[in-house]
Amino acid sequence: MRKPFLAGNWKMYKTVPEAVALARALVEKVGQYEKVDITVCPNALALGAVAEAVKGSRISVGAQHMHWEDEGAFTGEVSARMILSAGAKLAIIGHSERRHIFGETDEMVNRKLKAALAAGLSPIVCVGETLDQREKGITDEVVSRQLEGGLKGVGKDELPKLTIAYEPVWAIGTGKTATPDMAQKVHALIRRLLADSHGEGFAQAVRVQYGGSVKPANVASLMEMPDIDGALVGGASLDAESFSKIVRYAEG
Ligand code: PEP
Repeated sequence: MRKPFLAGNWKMYKTVPEAVALARALVEKVGQYEKVDITVCPNALALGAVAEAVKGSRISVGAQHMHWEDEGAFTGEVSARMILSAGAKLAIIGHSERRHIFGETDEMVNRKLKAALAAGLSPIVCVGETLDQREKGITDEVVSRQLEGGLKGVGKDELPKLTIAYEPVWAIGTGKTATPDMAQKVHALIRRLLADSHGEGFAQAVRVQYGGSVKPANVASLMEMPDIDGALVGGASLDAESFSKIVRYAEG
């Protein structure tokens, strides 16, 4: 049984005090909720303060991105070791905004994944097609390439904490959600590809989140799908009330 995993990506929203206030509100609402795993991913500046704010609760903290080197002359970047030292345990890798706005490639995703694992951070590796790619009928090809490139050279024994997030780019921040059936098809493909590359047992254990305009109103129908194990939530995670409702989706 895969435990549902709900993560909030706060993107470049919230000052440090605002992020702390949101974290405290979530601790109050879902801090001891045990039915799902919960992670929030504030901006890098707020990682330490948010980690402090959620201490003692079941909510963990993750970074939105990281560099693959441990340290060095990489102005503006943060490393896995720095993220861990701030009290975070996870990093989102290869989010589509990083790929499309900042030019991250599958090779960079792969280097970051290896660095995260070496440092002991749990990775959420994001994959997903653009609208143009979906309309061309190459969704499966794109997702396969991203998954293969991202996980290249990483054995299953190194990946016990891996989460994959399927995030169709056309559904992120647009209000358009993939239907549960559309999402399920790609989730099943991802699990099949992981079975081929890393074995059936591994594929059955890995959690695959869906991301793309997940809201309190649509989360339950997505979570009913057999291969959807959680959600990576952007916009709707910026409000404690709406993210708490998403976390408690099973309660209707
Ligand atoms: C995201 O940022 O990963 C995301 C899915 O955003 P949204 O929920 O706003 O579409």
